[in-house]
Amino acid sequence: MRAVRELLAALRRPIDELCSRGLPNLAHPDGEERVLELAAQMADAAGALAAAFAGKSARTASEAEVLRRKKTAEDLAQLATSAKNLGRSPLGERQRVVALGLRLCAGVSMYLPQSTEKRSVSAVAPTPIAKPAPESKPAPKPESRPESDADDPLVQPLLGLPGVGPVTAEKLAVKGLTRVIDALYFLPKRYDDLRQVVPVGQLQPGVLQATVVLVERTKVVWARKRFLEVMFRGEDGCELLARWFYFHGGYQKRLLPGKRFLLTATPSKFRDSLQVTHPELTDLPPRTEQEGGVLPEGSGHIRIRYPDVEGVPGRLIERLCQGLCQQYAELVPDGVPAQLLGRLSLPVLPQALRELHSVPAETTPELLARLNEGLSPAQRRLIFEELFFLQLGLLRRRRAIAADDATVCVTDDQSLARLRAVLPFQPTGAQERAIAEIRDDLKQPHPMQRLLHGDVGSGKTLVAYAACELVMASGHQAAVMAPTEILAEQHYKTLRVWAQASGRKLALLTATTPKTARKTTVAQLQAGRFADVLRIAEATGQPLDRESILAMLSAGFLDMVVGTHALIAEAVEFKHLALVVIDEQHRFGVGQRAALRRKGRQPHILVMTATPIPRTLALTLYGDLDVSQLDELPPGRTPAVTKVLPARSGEGKALQAVRKAVETGRQAYWVCPLIEDSDKLELSSATARHAALTTALPELKVGLVHGRLSSDERDDVMGRFRQRELDVLVATTVIEVGVDVPNASLMVIESAERFGLAQLHQLRGRVGRGSGKSACLLLHGVSAEATSTQRLEVVAATSDGFRLAEADLRIRGPGEVLGTRQSGLPPLRFADLLRDIDLLTIARREAAALLSRDPDLSRPEHVVTQRVLAERWAHCDLTLE
Ligand code: ADP
Ligand code: MG
Repeated sequence: MRAVRELLAALRRPIDELCSRGLPNLAHPDGEERVLELAAQMADAAGALAAAFAGKSARTASEAEVLRRKKTAEDLAQLATSAKNLGRSPLGERQRVVALGLRLCAGVSMYLPQSTEKRSVSAVAPTPIAKPAPESKPAPKPESRPESDADDPLVQPLLGLPGVGPVTAEKLAVKGLTRVIDALYFLPKRYDDLRQVVPVGQLQPGVLQATVVLVERTKVVWARKRFLEVMFRGEDGCELLARWFYFHGGYQKRLLPGKRFLLTATPSKFRDSLQVTHPELTDLPPRTEQEGGVLPEGSGHIRIRYPDVEGVPGRLIERLCQGLCQQYAELVPDGVPAQLLGRLSLPVLPQALRELHSVPAETTPELLARLNEGLSPAQRRLIFEELFFLQLGLLRRRRAIAADDATVCVTDDQSLARLRAVLPFQPTGAQERAIAEIRDDLKQPHPMQRLLHGDVGSGKTLVAYAACELVMASGHQAAVMAPTEILAEQHYKTLRVWAQASGRKLALLTATTPKTARKTTVAQLQAGRFADVLRIAEATGQPLDRESILAMLSAGFLDMVVGTHALIAEAVEFKHLALVVIDEQHRFGVGQRAALRRKGRQPHILVMTATPIPRTLALTLYGDLDVSQLDELPPGRTPAVTKVLPARSGEGKALQAVRKAVETGRQAYWVCPLIEDSDKLELSSATARHAALTTALPELKVGLVHGRLSSDERDDVMGRFRQRELDVLVATTVIEVGVDVPNASLMVIESAERFGLAQLHQLRGRVGRGSGKSACLLLHGVSAEATSTQRLEVVAATSDGFRLAEADLRIRGPGEVLGTRQSGLPPLRFADLLRDIDLLTIARREAAALLSRDPDLSRPEHVVTQRVLAERWAHCDLTLE
């Protein structure tokens, strides 16, 4: 059995890692490669287990037992095959395979002799909701914490607990609920005060309330859909109609006329009366004389609501979470040092969990209100913990990198002279400051980790190139990575001018760079005649092919490369990469950042973003970086005048504006609606708009650019727009980031309500880059709601990207705005970065203080802290070391 236990653990491990972000999201932060690795591990373990089960059964085994083993063996073999093929499977199939794996793990674990601890499930009995949970006996103290995971009750699977069969377990897993500890951290979303029981006649629509009713009559109605209709009568004589659209025969048996229930529901208005759908019913004993209409004690209660899990009854979740909390809360390791908790007056972890999973009936309305706002001490404790470990991780990482050796790039004041000589403008004070900061960093023997933070149009490209130039001047290579091909190509064009002036050799590498070199070129490359290859490419106007670029980079012939994420491909090697610049960094996952970093021997890193991030968030997301701010726009810019127009009348005005702009020698962008998840629709709307504008503006030259064009075609269109051969450019959001055509002075955005505020700001940033007036017209869709019009008015009212970012954040939440899911940080489940700024600041301060006292968290009192830290960051792209 021991072997089986080990094999089972070997099967569980890859499965757990694969679904650490829930079944819907099986992609691994380390990318497809890791997924394949895990799939292979799964296949191996499943194969070995299958073999173990296919072996001889004990002679004493019953026939049924033998069959069961045989079936298990077959299923495992099937799992092994499917896992092997996972690489070729679409997501749906992958989910099915992983779910099968989960189920089989549970099945196999039933063959194992049960550890007593795990099987003491009787304590997971339903906690009576109506009564306050009796003060739970503290569970066994974790003094002798089990060594191996398999014996740690907190990581035992939920599957197999009462009510949790394979089907339910799978559904729970979708929400990330697979182990006991997950259930403890699955916190209620709302606490409803149902202690007051309201007579039927006084029920209010739209509010969750409890009332006492008797069943009058029931009937099944066959309308378009079958439903169950029940007429209740309250103790005040008023009637209440209830409907169930999903029900089974048991309902009617339970709802016998005359039976008495405590009914909980949110009534809605129906014609002149109130009605309820799918109310919750609690059986009540018949009313007695003595009682005189008073409810039996405890029937009005505080109702704890957990987040919905599709396909799992709320009651089951409640029982599960509350039961497990009572039993195991005491065992949850508290990683926040006790002394710190004391100082902040925050409860210890077990206490916080218990307070959240069950609230005593005598809880004050004030505390309930705080609970519902997420501001109770117990919640603040969990939020603090989350932010504390986030900051600890970021700071640890920062320290680790800062301690690395990096290439020292010493340069003098003259190193930028040639660049300055060809600049058509004077750098702004902010640009000079940022360049100076970077220069200081590059002189250090440790890697620079700097964020260049500046609004759209603030001139980050120049700063980036200056950084590259400093590195190249000291004899090293630099790489610039941009998120889109358009942007990479544009950078290439801009930087080439500067690079040539300084005598640097530069290439462009994207996914569409020709793959292979011509035969003659190959021969030249082999002979090391790079200069010839480059000269011929330049003479013929052909872009350098990938093969040549790779050879020239690894030989150190090229000084610099600009590209998309094609740069992080395995094959790309540098001779001495000393600086990596990442533009529009928010578009990249941290994993990609790290991959490029690995190309050099600890290169210096400069990341740039135009996403105006409020300071608090910068602290969170870039807590591991120094920040240079471009807080000054180049002179002569006038912010675009922004107007919000209804689509119908607005379109005519927009056409007018386009004509006028072109008449005065300027150009215009026309951005088509963003259509989530559908390139195709986006494309067709852009094509249609292009046709419509061509017809409506016959005297103008209208171009079209979208993501489906090949890079040559796109290049061609962008080039013609830049050369003023086109007056109007119809575009999908491919132009959102970074595109720079200073002569464009008008931006029309269709169905603007579909965009995020920050995104609109980015788009708007495409105009107002040259001198002269510019304008941005936001057309909102026909059916746009009032709130979305208001949102657009916010964009119109301010040109301050930071204020917009804050507003966007409030409206859409940080996850979506910043794509934290891709950010590679541990997910924030409890913290709200806007609401919890105070805690974030404290968490950062305390994390820094702790690390300065005990940098490796190696002191005995920090053992748990270190372990929890490692666990929290285990599945992130960012490694701590
Ligand atoms: P972003 O910060 O959005 O990346 P860019 O680097 O693309 O901004 O610069 C926007 C425009 O401003 C470009 O046309 C660039 O040439 C111009 N620019 C940059 N710095 C200055 C400056 N100091 N004075 C005038 N124009 C500048
Ligand atoms: Mg830019």
